[in-house]
Amino acid sequence: MSIPFVDLKTQYQNLKEDINQRMQSVMENTAFILGDEVSLFEKKFAEFTQSKHCIGVSSGTDALQLALRVLEIGPGDEVITVANTFIATSLAISYVGATPVLVDCDKEDYTIDVEGIKKAITDKTKAIIPVHLYGQPARMKEIKEIATEHGLYIIEDACQAHGASLDGISAGSFGDIGCFSFYPGKNLGGYGDGGAITTNDEHIAEKLRMLREYGQKKKYYHSSKGMNNRLDALQAAILNVKLDHLADWNESRRKAAALYTELLSDIPQIETPHTREGAEHVFHLYVIRHPERDKLLTYLHEKEVYAGIHYPVPIHLQEAYVDLDYHKGSFPITEAYADTILSLPLFPEITEEQIKEVVSCIKEFCAKEV
Ligand SMILES: *Cc1c(COP(=O)(O)O)cnc(C)c1O
Repeated sequence: MSIPFVDLKTQYQNLKEDINQRMQSVMENTAFILGDEVSLFEKKFAEFTQSKHCIGVSSGTDALQLALRVLEIGPGDEVITVANTFIATSLAISYVGATPVLVDCDKEDYTIDVEGIKKAITDKTKAIIPVHLYGQPARMKEIKEIATEHGLYIIEDACQAHGASLDGISAGSFGDIGCFSFYPGKNLGGYGDGGAITTNDEHIAEKLRMLREYGQKKKYYHSSKGMNNRLDALQAAILNVKLDHLADWNESRRKAAALYTELLSDIPQIETPHTREGAEHVFHLYVIRHPERDKLLTYLHEKEVYAGIHYPVPIHLQEAYVDLDYHKGSFPITEAYADTILSLPLFPEITEEQIKEVVSCIKEFCAKEV
């Protein structure tokens, strides 16, 4: 049985009529730029994330970049984030001319290490970007305390955490600004690129609406040097259909994750994911660890079980970031995990049979290795 890493085809088949109809209506009305679908999505997504405002933008990377820009963070400023993340988090910091200052990840849950943040703060620090990695919120209570004490902004990278929460508070609504991606494989994904920014601050929201559209409030009157970073109306139409299913899909992901954890619990070589108390994990990824990860991955691929690695090279060891002057050994936990983590197939429509097949292949491999 071939098992894909994600299965976007099944989901499309289930929603085909609604999505096709909705897209067709955008085309018939030729309402391609912003318009009703984008406004409706912004309203619905703000509610979904318990935020006052939502601004649709062109991608998760742009959401992060605009968030930094609207807070006037730029050259000479430092922004703290985690070495264990997708590179877009730090690229956005670099793109506005600020310097990413990296911190190791937590041993237990892969999110940013709180003690590391404290040590990384300098006179130049302007903001912290915690990443709700794999779908579990970072330790926001502690991070907020640090931010308040030092007068720092919090920009949440919630690109993997649509619908996640901590003590009842939604990802994207803890800090000053929350950033989301609607890349097709995310928990909420469009059929192309897309993103959103959430905030409770009206002033920030208003500025972001201008920044994403040539710095204009009124057509052809430009009060700042903005860019074109709008959410596409066709993507918004798709997202409006899909958002109504997101809570159910997240629940399916949690159930699939629980079944994996149960079935894998008797394999001593395998470390399954930890969900912290009070955290509502949305399992964008289900990540295990195994000391012989590369061999296990090859074995699974031979069996047509398409597991993946998120991410094989930490930010500080990427060629793009040699200029930051970190080296191997700078972030030992992140580095050890980069060599041992493995993301198993997970999507809302995954069946019990598929999960059992993945686990049975893993068990075959582990039995051989002993
Ligand atoms: C996907 C992702 C991004 C970037 O989003 P894009 O829409 O692909 O630009 C940023 N950060 C994290 C943690 C992500 O997973």
